[in-house]
Amino acid sequence: MSEPILADLARRLVLTALCGAFAPSAWTASHPRIPIWNAPDIDKVCGETLSNARASVAALERLPLSQATVERVFRPWDRLQILLEDTQGPVDILTNASPDAATRTAGEACLLKINEFGTELFQNEEIYAQFRRLVLIDRIDRKLKKDVVEAFEDTGVALPSEKRARMKQILQRLEEIQQTFSRNIRDNKTRLSFSPDEAKGLPASYLEKARRDDKGNYLLGFEYPEYEPFMANAENEEARRRYYTAFNNRGTPQNLDLLDEATRLRREIASLYGLPSYAHFATRRRMVENPETVHRFLDEVKDRVREIERKEIGELRAFKAERLGKSVQEVTLNRWDLPYYQEQLRKARYNVDQEALRAYFPTDASVAWVFAISGRLYGVKFVQAKALLWHPSVRYYDVIDGKTGGFLSGMYLDLFPREGKYSHAAAFGVRSASLLAKRTPISVLVANLDRNGLNHRELETLLHEFGHVLHGVLSRTRYASQGGTNVERDFVEAPSQMYEEWTRKKEPLLLVHKYCKGCPEVDEALVKRLHAARSFGRGIQYARQHLYASYDMALFGEREVDPMQGWIRMESETPAGYVPDTQFPGTFGHLVGGYGAGYYGYMWSEVLALDMLSVYGKNLMNPAAGRRFRELILSKGGQRPAAEMVRQFLGRAPSPKAFFEEITGQRGD
Ligand SMILES: [Zn+2]
Repeated sequence: MSEPILADLARRLVLTALCGAFAPSAWTASHPRIPIWNAPDIDKVCGETLSNARASVAALERLPLSQATVERVFRPWDRLQILLEDTQGPVDILTNASPDAATRTAGEACLLKINEFGTELFQNEEIYAQFRRLVLIDRIDRKLKKDVVEAFEDTGVALPSEKRARMKQILQRLEEIQQTFSRNIRDNKTRLSFSPDEAKGLPASYLEKARRDDKGNYLLGFEYPEYEPFMANAENEEARRRYYTAFNNRGTPQNLDLLDEATRLRREIASLYGLPSYAHFATRRRMVENPETVHRFLDEVKDRVREIERKEIGELRAFKAERLGKSVQEVTLNRWDLPYYQEQLRKARYNVDQEALRAYFPTDASVAWVFAISGRLYGVKFVQAKALLWHPSVRYYDVIDGKTGGFLSGMYLDLFPREGKYSHAAAFGVRSASLLAKRTPISVLVANLDRNGLNHRELETLLHEFGHVLHGVLSRTRYASQGGTNVERDFVEAPSQMYEEWTRKKEPLLLVHKYCKGCPEVDEALVKRLHAARSFGRGIQYARQHLYASYDMALFGEREVDPMQGWIRMESETPAGYVPDTQFPGTFGHLVGGYGAGYYGYMWSEVLALDMLSVYGKNLMNPAAGRRFRELILSKGGQRPAAEMVRQFLGRAPSPKAFFEEITGQRGD
């Protein structure tokens, strides 16, 4: 993806929620649906949930330590998680996607209360002692115990009381910061005005849809379907510079202050634990285990992409000079030139035009195709069914097991931009599987795609998020807190990064036209051209990923770094440099969310993703490999360590070979 930051946030329940007696029947039915609460509903449900949860905690606390058994501790614990999730899950999606501002505001307030309750729960010494005392034989139980004990310790249960109280304040403030940061971007209604002359180069289909003022100027906002095609196609360099600068100031200046505060608070967390940095605190629970492993990995990536990036930038600069009829020395390649000249070069050299691709991938047909290939690979069916929805453009589907015909789970698609909606693409694991509670999962795919047709990047985004959704809806875990995407943060992107490959290989791609009558047919020649076009720009793409990951590690590393000054310094060292007056860190929501000292996880996961593709052999539509993936990875959620699951799926130790071949362009089509 040319702008990997657009990728997404895979949501993880911080503590997970649950539901109570007041839950509406739609939510507790055998084919549950997300309840569509308004602001007063949320206030009521939230209050009732917390009071029920407090009663559950009190009951758990009363259990004498000598009587702590799996039956008496894990079962009520799973019920408590479910009780919380039954409120937190729906409220989280409504807060991010409801068209009603009052609902979103009530949702934020409720999530803060649940967060506060969660901190208290995970600082509860009695329950912590019960978990610690349990001696377990079963592997899944042992993994749950480890996860829960670590979560208690990471929340401060074992700290002296003063530090514990401070930890509670910090965690609450971090949750507020995350909400405000996200809201500042989500609710930004800025529109820039561009004259028809400045919009030259954009296709008629784009311009027809755009809003205009009474003078005929185009009024463009920050939704991806407006911003990205403009940056790739508008001939007017000054217009692109203006749009780029505004886009990289969304949410600022306030978000810069919030990021700075989050950085300081996380530094303080590390000091409460006597650790050298927040990166140490965070990575010790991940696959990498420590920051040194991350830095070694990032150095290896840098060694491989530096030269490729420089070469590509050189080619783009020469291309720009040629287009403008100037000598290379006379032109500078600016950051707002990168998407434009990459797109124009790909058109000229490989005959691949992202706007023209929309005719091959109409949005509805693309969704039907994703259902079909997922169905064939994983042995499932997606059946549209009735449900109450938070917006009329949302769709609900039952996920049905192909072999037994049994109901597995539910899935919502919310694909198009609108005012006040979450602005990236993400999968929300609203409801987790629990075999113990006979609980079926629900996931929601949220994106901001073009309604009429997808370009290749959007198709990748759709598959990426669908990979997360499958991880949620096909999970069959014993305990809710281990369901779906509740895995190590540096593994969570592996199934989604892997699924992007299905937009690149002929076996799946040749099937697209079956779902669209009258569309131009994707043939082998087009697949080859797509592959060739994608091979240009890898250096630029992975160098950018490397920059994001390195910046994230620096911000949460041992030395204090001012977020804006640190960014200016690091981006200035790249070939396209830093653009004055841009404040990118204020738009980088991953850093205040779950990806603090974790952005490297995108590339780390991609190592595993590309390696796991080897099991599919020469044919990505290999159903035997698909079933194996469903069984050994998707259905297992976080009930086994990721390293163990990957090893079993591969039948050998993982290797970074395929990843390094990918970033250096040595992987074949
Ligand atoms: Zn993702």
